[in-house]
Amino acid sequence: MSLTGKTALITGSTSGIGFGVAQCLAEKGANIVLNGFGDADEIEKMRSAIANDYGVNCIYVAADLSSEEGVKALFDDMKVQGVNGADIIVNNAGIQHVSPIEDFPSEKWQLIQDLMLSAPFYIIKCALPFMRKNGWGRIINIASVHGKVASVNKSAYVAAKHGLIGLGKVVALETAKENITCNSICPGWVLTPLVEKQVDLRAEQDGLSWDEAKMSLLSEKQPSVEFAKPEQIGALVSFLCSDDAAQITGSELTIDGGWTVQ
Ligand code: NAD
Repeated sequence: MSLTGKTALITGSTSGIGFGVAQCLAEKGANIVLNGFGDADEIEKMRSAIANDYGVNCIYVAADLSSEEGVKALFDDMKVQGVNGADIIVNNAGIQHVSPIEDFPSEKWQLIQDLMLSAPFYIIKCALPFMRKNGWGRIINIASVHGKVASVNKSAYVAAKHGLIGLGKVVALETAKENITCNSICPGWVLTPLVEKQVDLRAEQDGLSWDEAKMSLLSEKQPSVEFAKPEQIGALVSFLCSDDAAQITGSELTIDGGWTVQ
C-alpha cells in the first residue's frame, strides 16, 4: 500500500501519538503537515528527519487550534507553504485536565471542548471541499477509550471524546458515497507526555515511586498491563488509509489492551 502523492495533516504532531502517526504515514510515502507546540529547534529536527528519512515533503504549521481563527490560520499557512489541502486528516491534538467537577476550572472545560471537539469540526469543514474535488479522502479522529466509557475527574475530556466519536459518525454518513471515510481510534493508555503528567500526579498524591505509579495506573484499567505504542496507533491509521479499509467508515476502533471489554 502506497500513499505516495497524498498529503496528510496530523494535528498535534510535535509529540507523542501525533508524531508516531506522522512517521508511519511518511513511511508509506505521504507528504506530511506537522502541527503543534514546542521548541522551534526541536520541531525543525523532527520536520527535517521526516523529510530526509522518508524522502517526502514535510512542512510545519504552528497554528493554535483552540479557535476557529486558529484553524483558518492553519489552512492559510499551509497554502503559503505551497500545500493547498490535505487528502488525509488526523485530528489528534489534545490536552488533559484532571479534577473533580466542583473544582474543575471553567476555562479548562472550555479549552478542552474548543481544542478536542470544535477544532476537529472546523478542520473537517475546511478539509472536505478538497477531498470532494479529488474524490478521495480519509479522516481519522484520535478519540480515546474515554469516548466510550468514563473515568472520575475527567469530565471535560470524556465529554469532548464522546462528542468527537459522534461527530465522526455524522461525517461518515455525509460522505458515505464519495470515497471518503471517517473513523475514530480509541486508544487506552499510551506512554506520552500527556500520560506522564498523570503518572507524576499519582506518584505525588499516593506517595509512590514513578514506576510504582505507572504500574498502578496501568493495572487499574488496562488488563494487558502494557502501554499501547504510538507506532501501533500509526499502523492502524495507515491501514484506515488503504483501499482495503474503503468500507470501514463511522467506526470506533479500540487499541486498549482490553480496557473497554471489562
Ligand atoms: P501529547 O501531549 O504527547 O501531544 C499533544 C499534542 O497536541 C502536542 O503536539 C501539542 O503541542 C499539541 N497541542 C496541544 N494544544 C494544542 C493547540 N492548542 N493547538 C495545536 N496543537 C496543540 O499527547 P498524546 O498522548 O500524544 O495525545 C494525542 C491525542 O491522543 C490526544 O487527542 C489524546 O487525547 C489522545 N489519546 C491519548 C492517550 C494516551 O494514553 N496518551 C490515550 C487516548 C487518547
